[in-house]
Amino acid sequence: MSRQSDIIVIGAGPVGLAFARYFKGTDLQITVLDKAPLSSIESPAYDGREIALTHHSKEILQNLGAWQRIDESDIYPLKDAKVFNGGFDYGLHFKVPKDLKIMSSTDRLGNLISNHNIRQALYDEVKTLPNVELMTDVGIKHIDTDDQSAKVHLTDGETLHAKLIIGADSRMSFVRKALGIGAQMNDFGRTVIVFRVRHPLSNEATAQECFFYGRTLALLPLHDHLTNCVITLDNTQAAKLLALSPDALANEAQRMMGDKLGACSIAGTVHHYPLTGVHANTFIAKRAALIGDAAVGMHPVTAHGYNLGLSSVDTLGRLIIDAHLDDKDIASPTLLHKYNLNHQAHTRPLYHGTNTLVSLFTNDARPMRIVRDAALRISNNLPPVKRWITGQLTGK
Ligand SMILES: Cc1cc2nc3c(=O)[nH]c(=O)nc-3n(C[C@H](O)[C@H](O)[C@H](O)COP(=O)(O)OP(=O)(O)OC[C@H]3O[C@@H](n4cnc5c(N)ncnc54)[C@H](O)[C@@H]3O)c2cc1C
Repeated sequence: MSRQSDIIVIGAGPVGLAFARYFKGTDLQITVLDKAPLSSIESPAYDGREIALTHHSKEILQNLGAWQRIDESDIYPLKDAKVFNGGFDYGLHFKVPKDLKIMSSTDRLGNLISNHNIRQALYDEVKTLPNVELMTDVGIKHIDTDDQSAKVHLTDGETLHAKLIIGADSRMSFVRKALGIGAQMNDFGRTVIVFRVRHPLSNEATAQECFFYGRTLALLPLHDHLTNCVITLDNTQAAKLLALSPDALANEAQRMMGDKLGACSIAGTVHHYPLTGVHANTFIAKRAALIGDAAVGMHPVTAHGYNLGLSSVDTLGRLIIDAHLDDKDIASPTLLHKYNLNHQAHTRPLYHGTNTLVSLFTNDARPMRIVRDAALRISNNLPPVKRWITGQLTGK
């Protein structure tokens, strides 16, 4: 059996679905494949991730009709951000720059939205589109591409034909490997543990990133008295923390945050993720391209992963629509090279910059503690540096 579409998207995560939704109103036929069952895509479960979105990402999600589908009470404003080194004595403080406040009445650095709510909104958009077909529970045997066409061979014997294949299947991407694209991988040997805590004192809508010695704590403000804790630590320590009872984990979080928010209790489930950074050597192959984490899987400390995923959707989606309107090949080498150049120029500095920051702020040797402290003080006292970092956080 075989069927034909224009684009096959492999992966129905928040990036693959956003990409499929990009073609609403066009006559391009899109097939989205995922190995997961339909139930986990049509009603995604809470997974502990609160995604910090830049203003640019908000615009993209608005254009995709997804932002409007998210209940306002599930969109948490990020007013300020503070970064600490070693303890809470001295902090680097980011606020919305005054000129931005006045010129565009921006009142926040960005917004936080739970990952499952983003996925839900995108799925609800995509399921209404007549030109998008979603196939779930799918196994892929191999992928073939040549100058004329692309094929995906499924384990059930079916072959899908298209002009273009998109890999949106996460950082350990099968598609990337199948296309023979190498990647730079960085196993940080660490685990990130995420959970929500309830607390009596207000978090003042301020995100806090505390680089302690041996572990890192990020506090992401949701409601006034509800905060997402993100603890990053080496794998052996992580196993011990994960073995704690909810009360003991809440006490540990409260101790780490220096009682800043008062007596904490765990709200909801606890989740953990291995920390591996990945940057594909190229984002394209013959009649194929990588987007989202399949192209670049970021360390979450700088909160860029999904923001970069959305920019990959926007960059490649726009090029494809323009080519299609001009009756040109939507998978021509020229188009794909343009995508690769544009997106790599965006991702490479952020990927390497984030990894440098991680290696600096997880190096606890005494001289490095001094360098870490100096880095915070210099950034705090040099307005252009601070403005540049704020620009990276806000996307403005
Ligand atoms: C703790 C944590 C906090 C984060 N915080 C932020 C943040 O604040 N800001 C931010 O911008 N980003 C953040 N991120 C990153 C963000 O979650 C990712 O960038 C984003 O989820 C990537 O989406 P994706 O669709 O590319 O991949 P995924 O969400 O991984 O989805 C991939 C999809 O592909 C499917 N798939 C996989 N393999 C196959 C296959 N072989 N065949 C078919 N289907 C397949 C999977 O089932 C899945 O549905 C965070 C990540 C973590 C872990």
